Amino acid sequence: MGGVYDVVVVGLGVAGAYAAYRLAKAGLRTLAVDVKPYERLGDKPCGDAVGGHHLERLGLTDLPQDVIEGRVRGIDIYSPSERFRFRVLGEGYEIDRIGLVRYLVERALDRGLELETETPALGPVVKDGSVQGVVLKRGTGSVEVGARVVIDASGNARAIARRLPREWPVSEDLKAEDSNVAYREVRELRREIEEPEILRIYVSKSVAPGGYWWLFPYSKTGTRVNVGLGVQGGRGYPHPRDLLYRYVLSREVFEGSRVVEAGGAVVPTRRPLESLVWNGIAVVGDAAYAVNPVHGGGKGSSMLSANCVASAVIEALETGRTDAGGLWSANACYMSSYGAKQAVLDVFRLFLQELSDDDIEFGMRKRIIREEDLNVLSLRGDLELSVVDKAVRLLAGLTRPSLLLKLRSVVEYMSKVRALYESYPRSPVELPVWSRRLEELLEEYKARVLG
Ligand SMILES: Cc1cc2nc3c(=O)[nH]c(=O)nc-3n(C[C@H](O)[C@H](O)[C@H](O)COP(=O)(O)OP(=O)(O)OC[C@H]3O[C@@H](n4cnc5c(N)ncnc54)[C@H](O)[C@@H]3O)c2cc1C
Repeated sequence: MGGVYDVVVVGLGVAGAYAAYRLAKAGLRTLAVDVKPYERLGDKPCGDAVGGHHLERLGLTDLPQDVIEGRVRGIDIYSPSERFRFRVLGEGYEIDRIGLVRYLVERALDRGLELETETPALGPVVKDGSVQGVVLKRGTGSVEVGARVVIDASGNARAIARRLPREWPVSEDLKAEDSNVAYREVRELRREIEEPEILRIYVSKSVAPGGYWWLFPYSKTGTRVNVGLGVQGGRGYPHPRDLLYRYVLSREVFEGSRVVEAGGAVVPTRRPLESLVWNGIAVVGDAAYAVNPVHGGGKGSSMLSANCVASAVIEALETGRTDAGGLWSANACYMSSYGAKQAVLDVFRLFLQELSDDDIEFGMRKRIIREEDLNVLSLRGDLELSVVDKAVRLLAGLTRPSLLLKLRSVVEYMSKVRALYESYPRSPVELPVWSRRLEELLEEYKARVLG
């Protein structure tokens, strides 16, 4: 079918698939395109862990059993020496990533979604200051396809957003140091792993500088695990695959194990794009940097961003206003439901990446921040000043007062950033002033608190 689509969705990972599902369900004439063939939609290197709270919020609580590869009861976080362990309890799942995307795409197809696989989008069509479609590669040629709104859900490729005018906030590039380069393997172990419903995270600067390594069992089998490692980008650290082989896969537990899948990718670990929308364009998922900056999980938040964008697009098409102002409610929705927390966690991430293994060992040994604080931090992005003040009172006289005082300042900046996000602009015209305030605040934080 030709003509102008209501929406063209570029990319069918979890973010694009969730957006396409919501838009098709709302009866909008939607085309989704992906470079991958149908059977590989959703297939990207991932740890496959998703928090149960995300699925509840997204109305995905009755996923078919074959999409669930295991239940998760909690996460163990190990100190660099592995002598100290925090167990943070919380419900979650190991998900079959292809199965989840297929589940969403099939439902969208039932509601009339048009789908073109093995079709790369080459860029946007921009006319009169607004995105009015996309250029698709078809066969050996290319065609322009018109759309009232284009959604860039192309992950790190940012196939549309990065080709937009530089003054549009959606075009902001990812800085290498605001990313993690991560590599993982799915392996079949020779023996069943103990406590397969517990995910394991190991924090160690010497093994995974600026990141961590993980061991996530798929509890359905107990012998299949997802093992991976991420390092901060832009710092010249060794490739995560080399570190994984050198320090992790040499452990006894992996002896005789078989590689089922292997691969890596870049994870954006920063605050979200300052606006997910502009004239005729919306950006979701990794393309919008909608990932938790501390643990790098992005499947749930990608779908949350897609959910907010889908609601805004549906409303914008009803009112006939698809410019930045008409789509703006996507920002209010995302920033209040997840983006503010992400920005607060980004402040914490910058601090964490500065710590030495000794600092982390000390912090966990002295329980400066405890399991319950980590739970609140991870769910809400809050770290109470009183928690840190208590630690300062108890420990400052003994040792490392500078680390404790620094942590106190970090928490203060976390609340300043939260306060700024609470006054997120109500319209695009207010964005430049707000963005400048945010930039100044982050620069002040880096200069005053970080090294
Ligand atoms: C090693 C690793 C481990 C991770 N572990 C976890 C974890 O345990 N839990 C978690 O929640 N998150 C994890 N993440 C992050 C998570 O995988 C991502 O945040 C999430 O998959 C992003 O989904 P998305 O739909 O935005 O992007 P993607 O899944 O990257 O989808 C983008 C889609 O766009 C398509 N595309 C790209 N360019 C074009 C183009 N030009 N034209 C058409 N189509 C195009 C691609 O083919 C792809 O299908 C991990 C990431 C990595 C790399």
